[in-house]
Parts: sequence; C-alpha cells; structure tokens
Amino acid sequence: MTFETLGLAEPLVRAVLEQGYTTPTPIQSQAIPAVLNGGDLLAGAQTGTGKTAGFTLPTLHRLAAAGPKKDARGRTAIRALILTPTRELAAQVEESVRIYGKYLPLTSMVMFGGVGMGPQIERLRRGIDILVATPGRLLDHHQQGTLDLSHVEIFILDEADRMLDMGFIHDIKKVLAIVPKQKQSLLFSATFSDEIKALADRLLNQPQLIEV
Ligand code: AMP
Repeated sequence: MTFETLGLAEPLVRAVLEQGYTTPTPIQSQAIPAVLNGGDLLAGAQTGTGKTAGFTLPTLHRLAAAGPKKDARGRTAIRALILTPTRELAAQVEESVRIYGKYLPLTSMVMFGGVGMGPQIERLRRGIDILVATPGRLLDHHQQGTLDLSHVEIFILDEADRMLDMGFIHDIKKVLAIVPKQKQSLLFSATFSDEIKALADRLLNQPQLIEV
C-alpha cells in the first residue's frame, strides 16, 4: 500500500515522500480512503499513530479538488475547521497542514487564546481555507463577528476525549450550532466514554468506524 494507491493527489504524495514517509500507517490506510469518499468518520487512535496525516491529507485533497471558494465579501472561505484541545496541538496540526499542503494552493491559520486578537483578525481578513483552533478563542472571534464559519464543509474534532476532560463540551456544542448542518465530520479520540459516544451520536451521520 502506498499514499498514491490510497487515492491522494500527486502534490500530496510528493510532500509526504519528502517527509520520508514511504508507507501509510494503519490509521492512514483506513482513514484516508474513508475521508476521500466524503463520509463521516469515528476513529479510535492514540497520538503517535500518524492520525494527524490521516485526517489532514484527505482534507487537503478534497479542498484542492473542489477548487477555491469565496465568501460573500470575496475572501477565501473557511472550508475546513479542525478543533484541538490545546494550543500546542493546534500549532502542531497546523504545521502538518502546511507541510503536507506545501504544493497545493491552500492557506491555513492557527488560532488560540493567550495572544492578542488583532493579528488573528488581520489574518482572517485576508481569507484562509483551513482553520485550526482551540474552542475558546474560536468562539471569542465568532462573538465579535470577526469569523465566518458558514462555509465549513469538513469539521474535525481531534483528541475529542481530551477536549471533554478539559471541560470543553459546552464550547463544542456552541461551535456545532454555528457550523453548517450539512458537512463531513470526523471525530478522533483515544478513548470512548459514554460522553464521547453521545457526542459522536450528535455529530456524526452513519460514520465509518476505525480503531487501531
Ligand atoms: P501523529 O500520531 O499524527 O502525532 O504522528 C506521529 C508521528 O509520525 C509524526 O511525527 C509524523 O511525522 C510521523 N508519521 C506520520 N505518518 C507517517 C508515515 N506514514 N510514515 C512515517 N512517519 C509518519
């Protein structure tokens, strides 16, 4: 099995080969075709399994294949939203998006609290395709009217169990009320408590299940 046979576009295959990845990990072999198919996904995967590439690669592929999209103000619309529990993870995921997407005409941004809103507002004004964020700051921007999530097509919750452990359930529900109903949703979690199952039931539509 190779990244090419999984169905990824050449610019993505080139970027992962440059990273020295020759063979997809088990989560990647399962998640990449599932996400490329457009369906929802419920994935049980720990850190270190290659899960980040498992969701970023097919997300980049789908956005690139669909071509650019503009919002009502003529800016590049946010079509993928990735939520993470911590700033560190958000920064790491966005770096992966940049590395894997380096040969594609897609833009990304990372957004978290503890830093000024100004530069983030400035960056949002210029338009981005992919937003990686922690829930609190995302909602701050939405409340201030500086963030338009009405064009989100792919919604990803990374490390959902940690997000719940950190008390983000209300924030996640608020975000779910803001993003479009019609979208592709992916939920990644290392563990599956009743609370995660309830969240999955609420968010996902006939998801493919993957456990590694
Ligand atoms: P993650 O589980 O997403 O945090 O990834 C763990 C580490 O595995 C990261 O440092 C990746 O760069 C690396 N990695 C991801 N996919 C592959 C692959 N197919 N082959 C080799 N290394 C990989």
